[in-house]
Amino acid sequence: MLGLMMNYPLTVPGLLDHGYRIFPQSEIISILPDKTRHVYRYADLYRRSKKLQYALLHKLQVQQGDFVGTYAWNHYQHMELYFAIPGAGAVCHTLNIRLSGAQTEFIINNAEDRYVFVDASLVGTLEQIAALLPTVKKYIILNAPPGFSSSLPEFLLYEELIADCPEDGSWVQVEENDACAMCYTSGTTGLPKGVLYSHRSTCLHAIFLSLPNYASISSSDRILIVVPQFHVMAWGLPMAAVLAGAAVVLPSSQMQPENLVRMIMEERVNKAGGVPTIWQGVYNVLKKTGAANIPLKTFLIGGATAPPSLIENYQRDFGVEAIHAWGMTETSPVGTLSRLHPHHSLLPDAEKIKIRSMQGQQLPFTEIRAALENGEIAPRDGKTVGEVQIRGVWVINAYFKSNSQESFTEDGWFKTGDVGIINQEGYLQITDRAKDLIKSGGEWISSVALEVSLMAHPLVKEAAVIGIPDEVWSERPMAVIVPMEENTQLDEQELKTFLSGYFVKYQIPDKFKYVKEIPKTSVGKFDKKKMRQLYAEGKL
Ligand code: AMP
Repeated sequence: MLGLMMNYPLTVPGLLDHGYRIFPQSEIISILPDKTRHVYRYADLYRRSKKLQYALLHKLQVQQGDFVGTYAWNHYQHMELYFAIPGAGAVCHTLNIRLSGAQTEFIINNAEDRYVFVDASLVGTLEQIAALLPTVKKYIILNAPPGFSSSLPEFLLYEELIADCPEDGSWVQVEENDACAMCYTSGTTGLPKGVLYSHRSTCLHAIFLSLPNYASISSSDRILIVVPQFHVMAWGLPMAAVLAGAAVVLPSSQMQPENLVRMIMEERVNKAGGVPTIWQGVYNVLKKTGAANIPLKTFLIGGATAPPSLIENYQRDFGVEAIHAWGMTETSPVGTLSRLHPHHSLLPDAEKIKIRSMQGQQLPFTEIRAALENGEIAPRDGKTVGEVQIRGVWVINAYFKSNSQESFTEDGWFKTGDVGIINQEGYLQITDRAKDLIKSGGEWISSVALEVSLMAHPLVKEAAVIGIPDEVWSERPMAVIVPMEENTQLDEQELKTFLSGYFVKYQIPDKFKYVKEIPKTSVGKFDKKKMRQLYAEGKL
């Protein structure tokens, strides 16, 4: 028998309606690419999103289901696009500004974007490829300075576009399973693939993420969203914040650690989200300047393994809690998150850091498991390694324009390509990307485990480990290291001795290379494909 309750749709404009009605005074602060500070309130976000939605529908004739691209930093106009595009029944397609021209061309053509909203400071790449983008009818320029000019054909200025539009239109009615947004995977293993989020998946992700046991977001919070809005919808933080009425601080291009520290202090930021590289940079600045009266209490750290030493350093030195989270574009993105529970309170500090350094536990209505090579499910014993699989309300069901079932199991789970261990309490620990595992003499070596240990050495700023071909062992690990201070000499033997405290002999790298910078992907992760290629070409 069916329940007798209303079938009220979960929609992205519904999130904004709620934020506006209950928290019209909550602030959105943007530090813009020209360094100016812009501040307005949810009431303004709502008003301007309505104007933009009107412009999309009546000036640009956007149709339901059209794809509208954004090529922009984190700022208030990008927030307006997040709500107005789905509010017009269209799909907000966030484009990664760090990709090459060729990749961007592929993605825009694959999505068949009809319009692209682009920051004035970012038009360069699009100018170069505009002739190759037949589906794009017009470009709309955000934050255009006076006298702005561009070789982009047919461009409009954002503020002029929305200036005379009414603020009282209705959102286009959609079904909750309709698409609202799309992000492409970073394409480190082949061509980027589109992940098409629904209104429902986006709302549920925002609701559960904001719960106290997860990101814990409320109207008392002031959240610095460092993770780019073009990367998996900034981990869903903008949607979760608006639902909860939190103040939002958006750094646009001003993401240098010194600037972030200034924003934390001046904007009284108490929560934040970003990748480990960002938090390492912020830590180094705080260490130099001191962190007296720092308002930051907790931040989410993920997108790549957070070194346990970093989690520990923040806790010990500044009393700031780093919350480790794992996920991917295909999982909206938050899949797991690591928090302690009351029964952990009597554990020694080192044990607590160990738990908090794991990637964490699944969220409601999502499930994780680890699968062995023969397809059997690995026991949750904290030691059996398997491929991590996930299913749930905000997990991908199929890639955009693809019939391939390769990434899905027969019983409907998504195969993440990550390898890990799950313990009795359901905490996941990622040990590697399947393709980054090193197999030496038939034994697996986790590159991630070596990296996090090396990064705990006080003279090591960053460390990435790759497998290099070896005649005897087929593969051996090689460590690529950025020293903490430029031109510091690191003693190889000392590093090996340091590692021998944690690893058996065959797992310790034979080779150490010292570099100024480790190649990174467009979203700031170690680019091991590139490193392997550079090594093969003798350039590392
Ligand atoms: P993306 O789709 O660009 O967000 O990349 C997703 C991938 O990043 C995952 O499949 C993992 O390999 C990696 N990743 C994300 N978060 C973590 C984490 N906390 N620890 C280790 N790897 C992570």
